[in-house]
Amino acid sequence: MSKITQEAVDFAIANGLVKYNAGYQLTHAPFSLTPCAISHQLLQRMAELTPVFNALWLKITNNSAFLREGLEKTARTDDFVRQLLNLLPSDDSAAGAQQMLISRNDFLLADGDGNQDPIPKQVEFNTISNSFLSLSRQIALLHRHLNLRGMLDNAPVGNDPLEASVDAMAAAIDAYDHPDACLLMVVQGREQNIFDQRAIEFRLLDKYRISTVRLTLEEISEQATLREGHLVIGGRVAALTYFRAGYTPDDYPGASSWKARELIEASTTITCPSVAMQLAGAKKVQQLLSRPDTLRMFVDESFYEQIRETFVGLYTLDDTIGDESASETACRTPERFVLKPQREGGGNNLYGEEMTQKLRSMSEGEKDAYILMERIEAMVTPSELVVESTSENLPSISEIGRYGLCLAEGKQIIENRDLGYLVRTKSADLDEGGVCAGYACLNSLCLTE
Ligand code: ADP
Ligand code: MG
Repeated sequence: MSKITQEAVDFAIANGLVKYNAGYQLTHAPFSLTPCAISHQLLQRMAELTPVFNALWLKITNNSAFLREGLEKTARTDDFVRQLLNLLPSDDSAAGAQQMLISRNDFLLADGDGNQDPIPKQVEFNTISNSFLSLSRQIALLHRHLNLRGMLDNAPVGNDPLEASVDAMAAAIDAYDHPDACLLMVVQGREQNIFDQRAIEFRLLDKYRISTVRLTLEEISEQATLREGHLVIGGRVAALTYFRAGYTPDDYPGASSWKARELIEASTTITCPSVAMQLAGAKKVQQLLSRPDTLRMFVDESFYEQIRETFVGLYTLDDTIGDESASETACRTPERFVLKPQREGGGNNLYGEEMTQKLRSMSEGEKDAYILMERIEAMVTPSELVVESTSENLPSISEIGRYGLCLAEGKQIIENRDLGYLVRTKSADLDEGGVCAGYACLNSLCLTE
């Protein structure tokens, strides 16, 4: 192992930049030794977009009629979306209720032609279970350390989305104003990225003396009850229910898990996110927003162009492109498209040959479960990537996520800001991008000037 790789791996392990691998052995999280260079101007522009996108998605969250209509056809063929829609309140009368969104807006940088800055193109806007609040901070600290040791040229752009999220959670729990208030973290049974989650728990206790209960939906169904509207678990009141699970059908192994979700939604606990907010993050909603009239329903004209500029083509399978269906175009030129079902968590999208086979074999009804997205041609740069203590230099692509916080009382926004960033760098020949799924490496940003 090279000196720098050894130094980096030791720092990673000593500072909680760790996870379980697929065999459930403890290892350092995969990371890059080449920070992703970005101009100050572009960095600023991306951070400034965060509240704009937050406000847009909050408006969608608060329009249940739009969600119902927009997802109706999808729900006919996608059971998971249907089950979530069934939990959507019948009207938007939750007005006044506390809403909390911890978002992450993921972008790939497309070549800006000539001397211009690259253009951030939106991959997706995530409204549930945004991971790496802690590990994205630790990778910036790792790069800072290597820079101080003289092993890395550039100092990273500071990053601490963990602290800001914990502060927001504590404020929400405090505002709930109950002596037995705690955080309920909804989790998966066997979580590879558990240390990223536990860092939130540790910080909440240390800084605010607030305790956390970690439970799966199944466990919640066994242990939780409603008392005067409160969600009560073992004598504690879940003031805030924070989801790090519940975004995939696997997290609902039976009817009892759905009952647990129902109980959470029926209680006065603040949900991060609510069912409506989760549904607003569906890929189908992203596709609907690519229609100018739909986007105009939700954004001020002054922000319209800025938002549009980040979009690439998004289509239903039977939309027309030129004189053929989007599905036919994708079969003819598969390298230009990604086929996406309504799923989160990585590894669900289809590319290339797999995509064309799926498109050709799909029933009419099944088509509504998917969207087609134009493939973003991201800029390729060389990066030194370290996976399980082995480093390799590869042509790579970096995906930049901006974390955001949005707090509202009913439709009234109380707080709305950017919380920091996530960079995931992966080999340019890989399609997908998840870190724990084993595709990508955590990275930091550094400034070009
Ligand atoms: P998930 O909800 O599973 O994270 P995403 O839509 O974020 O699904 O896609 C997963 C990964 O696939 C992304 O992180 C990105 O690396 C890649 N990807 C998704 N959409 C595109 C696209 N339009 N162009 C290029 N790569 C994409
Ligand atoms: Mg994603």
